[in-house]
Order: sequence, then structure tokens, then C-alpha cells
Amino acid sequence: MELPGRLVLLGHPVSHSLSPAFQNAALRSAGFPLAYEALDVAPANLASVARLLTGERAAGNVTVPHKEAFVACCTTLSPVARHVGAVNTFWVEDGALVGDNTDVGGFDSAVRSTVGLPAAPFAVAVIGAGGAARAVAAAVERWHGATARIWSRTAARAGQLADRFARTRAVAGLEEAVRGASLVVNATPLGLGGGERHPVPPALLDADARAFDLAYRRGGTPWVVACRARGLAASDGLPMLLEQGALSFERWFARAPDREAMHKAVR
Ligand code: NAP
Repeated sequence: MELPGRLVLLGHPVSHSLSPAFQNAALRSAGFPLAYEALDVAPANLASVARLLTGERAAGNVTVPHKEAFVACCTTLSPVARHVGAVNTFWVEDGALVGDNTDVGGFDSAVRSTVGLPAAPFAVAVIGAGGAARAVAAAVERWHGATARIWSRTAARAGQLADRFARTRAVAGLEEAVRGASLVVNATPLGLGGGERHPVPPALLDADARAFDLAYRRGGTPWVVACRARGLAASDGLPMLLEQGALSFERWFARAPDREAMHKAVR
């Protein structure tokens, strides 16, 4: 197999990203002579950087704030990237840039391996309506017997998201989203900085609800810590981040990465 010419993460800014640490651990473990580098790319330069990377036969990931804009840079999109309208993984095939989305599979797999999927039928409350919430809605769409309720402080964004996915509706209030939901997902950045404001007061969640926070922090986000203190099963977004990265590695190299080495690199 021919290795990519270069392996990069495109973001702005990207200095705080954990991805280089665990991707480089996976590359070392596989014995590939490549380094995964974070590239800080201003939005205005994204298209020209994408053209340069195509010429270099690069592969890599795309993160905030470029996931949606990168769709237009790709010649070919996987069905899931087209459906979600966002790319987080790319590579070059026959000289053309291919875009895919492993956030959907990463979220799906992380929920199953941490808090577990509730028994069908069940409702999922999604707080936030940005790019990450779209990946969540796409995963929920695949789950047997699951429906999604989207709440966002900007109601129009929740409505647009709901229009895009099956069995998904926008709701007007946070309580309406959360009451009776078996899984509550934080898809806002609240908690990322360690601030104490919770995306949802833990007391609002049903006693048997599971909580999944897309934000991540060492030791868990404040919301995850508070949900666990209430006796709920809860996970932060680190398992999802690792799994979307592992799935990206599988796309680039057609083989599974050393997941244990990836986990150790960020523990
Ligand atoms: P985004 O496109 O900017 O969307 C953010 C959403 O959160 C929007 O609905 C926004 O509402 C809302 N929001 C932002 N600040 C808020 C606040 N202070 N209070 C209430 N709502 C607020 O961002 P994204 O790409 O979807 O990412 C969302 C989060 O998921 C980030 O923390 C990101 O790091 C995380 N994420 C994690 C993974 C992982 O692998 N674990 C993967 C992807 C994303 P408005 O429209 O009103 O601004």
C-alpha cells in the first residue's frame, strides 16, 4: 500500500488538539514513517491549502471551524459526509480529494462502549445544533427505535438540523427536550473550559437517563462529574475523539490502529 505523502489536522486554532498525540502513537506502533502534524489554517486560506495538500497526496482530519466548509473542497464525498454536510477525514484517490465523516461512527461506538444504548424505543435529547449535533443526529437516525429532540439557544439552527434528519424534531424548551429522554447529549462547547455552568441541570434528567458530553477534559467535564454524582451513567467526549481518530486511521491505511497505544497517549 502506498502511504499518503503527508498526514495533517486542519483547524483554526489547533494548538490545543489531542489528535497529534494519539495519531502519532498509532503511527509509531504501526511502524509507518509518517508524522501527524497540526496545521493552523485561517478560513480564507482553506481552499488553497486543500489544493496544495491534494498535490502532495496528503491525508488527514479537519476540525473546528472547517468541517462544513471543507465539503466544497472535496471532489468526492462519502454518503455519510454528504448526508451530514461535514467532513472530518480526507485522503487523495487518483489525484482527487475524497471527504468522509468518522464523527458519526465515533459517536455511535463511544456511546455503545461507555454509557450503552438504551432499549428501544427511546428518545435522545441533543443540546446544541452545530456540526457535532449533526453527527449525533445521523447516528441516532441509524439506531433502531430511536428518536431525537434538538434544542439550541438559536431556535432556527435546531429547526434546520431537524429538517435534515429522519425521526428528529426541534423543540422550543430545554425541559421539553430532556424530560423522558433516555440519553442526553451535550453538543455545545459548555464544559470545555471547565466552567461550572452546565448545559443541562443534572436534576432535569430522568433517574435512569444516560449522559454523553461531546466536550472532554481530564477527569471528566463538570457536567459529567455532576451527572455521575447523581448516580447517572455518564461519559465525556474523549472516547468519541479517540474512536473517530481510529476510524480515520482505518480509512487512510486500510488497517486497524493500535487503539491501546492511542488511549495510553492521552491518558
Ligand atoms: P458549533 O458548530 O460551533 O456549534 C455549537 C453549538 O453549541 C451551537 O448550537 C451553539 O449555539 C451552541 N452553543 C455555543 N456556545 C453556547 C453557550 N455558551 N450556551 C449554549 N449553547 C451554546 O460547534 P460543534 O462543531 O458542533 O462542536 C460542539 C462541541 O462538540 C465542541 O465542544 C466540540 O469540541 C465538541 N466536539 C467533540 C467531538 C469529539 O470527538 N468528542 C467531535 C466534534 C465536536 P448558537 O448557534 O446559538 O451559537
